[in-house]
Amino acid sequence: MERSHTRPDIRTLTAEELNAVVAELGQPAFRAKQIAEWVFDKNVGSFDDMTNVPKALREQLSEQFCFATPTEVAKQVSKDGSRKYLLQFPDGVAVETVGMPSHNRLAVCISTQAGCAMGCAFCATGLAGLTRSLTAQEMVDQVIHVSHDLGERVTSVVFMGQGEPFANFDETVRALRMLNSEHGLNIGARHLTVSTCGIIPRIRAFADLPEQFTLAISLHSAIQSTRNQLMPGVKKYTLLRLYEALQLYTEKTGRRPTYEFAMIDGVNDTNPEMNALCDFCEGTLCHVNLIQLNDIPDSPFKPSPMKKVEELQRRLQQRGVETTIRNSRGSDIDAACGQLKQRKLNMRRS
Ligand code: SAH
Ligand code: SF4
Repeated sequence: MERSHTRPDIRTLTAEELNAVVAELGQPAFRAKQIAEWVFDKNVGSFDDMTNVPKALREQLSEQFCFATPTEVAKQVSKDGSRKYLLQFPDGVAVETVGMPSHNRLAVCISTQAGCAMGCAFCATGLAGLTRSLTAQEMVDQVIHVSHDLGERVTSVVFMGQGEPFANFDETVRALRMLNSEHGLNIGARHLTVSTCGIIPRIRAFADLPEQFTLAISLHSAIQSTRNQLMPGVKKYTLLRLYEALQLYTEKTGRRPTYEFAMIDGVNDTNPEMNALCDFCEGTLCHVNLIQLNDIPDSPFKPSPMKKVEELQRRLQQRGVETTIRNSRGSDIDAACGQLKQRKLNMRRS
């Protein structure tokens, strides 16, 4: 596909700007409407796809504008049907995206940054540092790519790929709204989930959004010293402050946040750790997702045995806390939580 950094991406135009461009080219107004439909409703990735637009007009448009869509540089298909994509943006930066089809549903896990600056000790993304944040369009492009590849409508999106969405808050909210828009992919707000390591001012801002987007928090320990070791980037946002922020969030929104808890052998699966988690959650509106840590190369951390995961679920349930044990999908292709890496691309795009 031809690319240009000098021509602007046609998808960044507003409807008014597009009208003006079409009028300038001496075309009737209905052409602008047709083009807008292709660009914003049908999410095409090239001028050639605009089959009801005359070829001459398509050529004129392509002289002025481009589609800065990502290029698929690699794809892996898991035996469970999920797919991991390495998508490269026009400036050469690449991120990983995962598509998880099941029955009539298609969930997509997108990245919000290339890499991550938060430095969580158990996360492959965190270990490699941050390259840059993504724009809202780049987040949405990942969803569109998976939808086109599988030929299916996307029914839910989790912002749980590479990066910390709340370290890139404004673009994340813009992306949520683009995905939610009836002129875009029209995905229900409750089916759009953002996961954060716990950046408290942003949790408060998220609580103030009018839409019913879903919130997940990476907790991983309810004991401060353990959490500091595992998640040094959020040391200053203490568990007490997190507890209070979530209290405020549930009062304001009436919605149930999810806590993510990846169980690490000998680290957060001990008796005091289990008790602390039960105390943290008991009596609050929340849902706990337990998973076995996914292995990452050269890491000292290992997954807890399944019987520990089941024991923690039992204990939480006894204390009245809703709990699910989640299976990581795509672990055979390193597409599971925390396994998405920054990849250095030496190859040049053709
Ligand atoms: N930065 C955000 C979202 C991306 S990480 C966040 O941290 O919430 C998505 C989820 O995968 C988070 O819950 C994260 O803590 C978890 N995760 C990271 N590494 C993992 C690993 N090795 N095994 C299991 N889960 C992991
Ligand atoms: Fe970043 Fe989330 Fe990984 Fe922590 S777990 S390093 S916040 S992507």
